[in-house]
Amino acid sequence: MNDLFPPAPISAVPVADSNARFPVHRIYCVGRNYAEHAREMGADPDREPPFFFCKPADAAVPVSTGQTLKLPYPSQTENFHHEIELVVAIGKGGSDIAVEHALDHVCGYAVGLDMTRRDLQTTMRKAGLSWEVSKAFDRSAPIAPLHLVESCGHPANAGIWLQVNGKDRQRSDIDQLIWSVPETIAHLSRFFELQPGDLIFTGTPAGVGAVVRGDLIEGGIDGLGTLRVEIV
Ligand code: MN
Repeated sequence: MNDLFPPAPISAVPVADSNARFPVHRIYCVGRNYAEHAREMGADPDREPPFFFCKPADAAVPVSTGQTLKLPYPSQTENFHHEIELVVAIGKGGSDIAVEHALDHVCGYAVGLDMTRRDLQTTMRKAGLSWEVSKAFDRSAPIAPLHLVESCGHPANAGIWLQVNGKDRQRSDIDQLIWSVPETIAHLSRFFELQPGDLIFTGTPAGVGAVVRGDLIEGGIDGLGTLRVEIV
């Protein structure tokens, strides 16, 4: 049997200070995982279990250190939002992973952006419809190089920040996650069999907001580098 056409190239995230790359299998995202952000989205952070959504693997766009990614303003939105997030890279798969073993499945961490068509998200949510078009669109997941656990450990507290045109928009600490990385992995692995190559965007702190063409987004997490994106 022959393929009807050549298979699409696989998305991959470069590993920092290395020739290696992390081939992406799936992208999972956690919604509303910082209390202040849950409040700004009109939710009660104390009473809601974690929830998940997905982006296609090819939504990941690697952004090299020192590079400025030119990200086209997407169609079908007039309220295009940034969400800076800690991204967890899964190196060992599994189902029903126990919290106490969850970090054994992590091979690295990165800085990522969960770009969002906020107007569509709000409209779809109010109508009780799927958010897919607001989250899972092309190039919606820019991601900086992956830092392997051997070099960065398992960060439990680190500053996370994002600026637009040099002005602070988001600034928090990953110790403010409602559901920690091990808890998130344990919970997610009850719904999906995790595989090497899976990325988990762990949620964004408060301060999400709109960007327009010409804006320069810079964001980072202490110890995991930074990323720079220009909206074009
Ligand atoms: Mn998000």
